[in-house]
Amino acid sequence: MEIFNKINNRIAEWNATQTKKKINIHRRKGTCPDCSGRGFFTTDALIDPTCSSCNGTGSFSDWAETTLQQLE
Ligand SMILES: [Zn+2]
Repeated sequence: MEIFNKINNRIAEWNATQTKKKINIHRRKGTCPDCSGRGFFTTDALIDPTCSSCNGTGSFSDWAETTLQQLE
């Protein structure tokens, strides 16, 4: 079973790297990484389409504020 743990660790590392890259790109643009700065999601229109990470502003600083609050 150890091989599966190793694979999972690799996937987790890869995901973390991709997430960091994505966050860096959006930090430069100043846009929310979750909704790409739109402030809403087009796929979940039947539920609340407003992005909860940035409260619909689409701004990176609002996203960072919300995300940091969740980590605390
Ligand atoms: Zn957002």
